[in-house]
Amino acid sequence: MEHDEKICPLCAETIKVEAVRCKHCHADISVKAHVEAVKPEGMGFAQKAFIVLILGVAAAFAIGAFSKPSEEDLARDHAKRAIEMCRDNEASYQGPAGARQIISGACRKLESDFSTRFSRTP
Ligand SMILES: [Zn+2]
Repeated sequence: MEHDEKICPLCAETIKVEAVRCKHCHADISVKAHVEAVKPEGMGFAQKAFIVLILGVAAAFAIGAFSKPSEEDLARDHAKRAIEMCRDNEASYQGPAGARQIISGACRKLESDFSTRFSRTP
């Protein structure tokens, strides 16, 4: 089906979007006829259904937001892993003591940054 085509609601044949009369079954499919065909109570139901749908989507988003880890949680996990990695490096470092002290200092810096940023110790 082309982008300028649609399906006739009466005979299910492909017709032009602009068409007001089906070329296959000759049914009047103008927008005006369609609006007149929809009963007022039908509109009300559609609107209610729409509101229920929107509320459902909103609720799904709200639940998703609460169950998902927050930006801060992710940042904290990341920072914590960096500190753990740093301490591992420090513990397994076999090189000169001076270099090891630099690593140790870097780890302490990470830890103090963590405390400052998240107001707790890793
Ligand atoms: Zn038709």
